[in-house]
Amino acid sequence: MNRMSGPDTIAALAGPKCLYVDSSALEHNAREVKKVLGSRVKLLAVVKGDGYGVGGVEAARVFVSAGADYLGVSSVPEGVELRKAGIRAPVLVMNPILKEECVTAIEHDLEVAVASRQGVFDIADASRRVGRVARIHLEIETGLGRTGLPVGTVAGVLEELRSQEGVRLCGVFTHMAEAHRDEASFRQFARFQAALRHVPPGLLRHVANSGTFLRFPDMRLDMVRIGTLLYGQLPFGIRNAALSLKSVWDFRARVLFIHDVGPGDTIGYGGDYSARRPMRIAVVSAGYSDGFGLTAVSRPKDLGDLARYIVKMVLSYLGKGRGEGGAVRFECGVAPVVGRIGMQLTMVDVTGLPVSVGDEASVSIRPTAGARLPRVYLRDGAPYLIRMPWGEMRPVEYEKSIDVE
Ligand SMILES: *Cc1c(COP(=O)(O)O)cnc(C)c1O
Repeated sequence: MNRMSGPDTIAALAGPKCLYVDSSALEHNAREVKKVLGSRVKLLAVVKGDGYGVGGVEAARVFVSAGADYLGVSSVPEGVELRKAGIRAPVLVMNPILKEECVTAIEHDLEVAVASRQGVFDIADASRRVGRVARIHLEIETGLGRTGLPVGTVAGVLEELRSQEGVRLCGVFTHMAEAHRDEASFRQFARFQAALRHVPPGLLRHVANSGTFLRFPDMRLDMVRIGTLLYGQLPFGIRNAALSLKSVWDFRARVLFIHDVGPGDTIGYGGDYSARRPMRIAVVSAGYSDGFGLTAVSRPKDLGDLARYIVKMVLSYLGKGRGEGGAVRFECGVAPVVGRIGMQLTMVDVTGLPVSVGDEASVSIRPTAGARLPRVYLRDGAPYLIRMPWGEMRPVEYEKSIDVE
């Protein structure tokens, strides 16, 4: 029995809540994408935003071992974090960087996107100061309306690059706005193709994010930049994919306290939930600091919307329905939230459920919100690594040998 890597160890190390991240699922998803790509098209695994919330460093390690050729981040500090963790794969910083960051980028062997003529001068200048070649990818703006060189300026910037010795052009790319729409995608791709007429051969040409990769095989070119699919999600506007993706994360929070209330008792801040019957209330260690309950408050758009809203309120008045705050899921059943969700604590109705203090509930969040949550990494269902809220990585095996004496 591997007691030390069981739930007791997790609680002892990580506290009452953590984001479980299934590294086997990350690896599976990367291999699924690789299978479709074959050996000719490279995979850039996007690990920006702390690996879409699951932890950028560990996600990067898993993707590289599953065959990713490149890693993509959005800023220089994210790239530096990968290098400090000993990751040596090519890393592309996909967003424009500041002049002040150019030296750091070159020193850490990060490839950078350049999206303006000034960007060429800044990186060339830094390359002279560091005494090392800077590797860049030119970004071309084709319709997202965000960053990149207008198609008409590409020839001039390439001309400029020829006279900058310290700068090596490695790739050229654009980013798609609406991969779920045909016409907009074709229009962007055609603009990109037009810009490519000025570009010398032998560069990495890359366009496709998850949605584009799925819907337009012709747009995969030399490399695809995939995030969403690797994390087991489908891109916006796409309902199914010819890939078998596995879900990657599960946020679990423990019950810290249980109490009984009677009719007329109020629950939570503001006193705006009033019990109508005897209830058993569990207090769960999750709140809006973890990204729980952060759904936008919206105003009904039309009468239909208003009617739905009223039905929900009536159901909630009658003690039926899920309530506005959502619900958490125990192994033995679903418990609706009652009262306001707090920063760190949430009350749920467990009347009739055999829930005890210390039990774990699954809580649905976007992991990008819970930046300070511990991440517990699982391989084949067993924990092997914990990232503590302060960033320290603790192998679970290591803990085992300490606790055994
Ligand atoms: C985030 C991002 C991607 C990945 O997009 P997904 O839709 O998550 O696959 C690709 N390229 C760039 C430039 C990005 O910023």
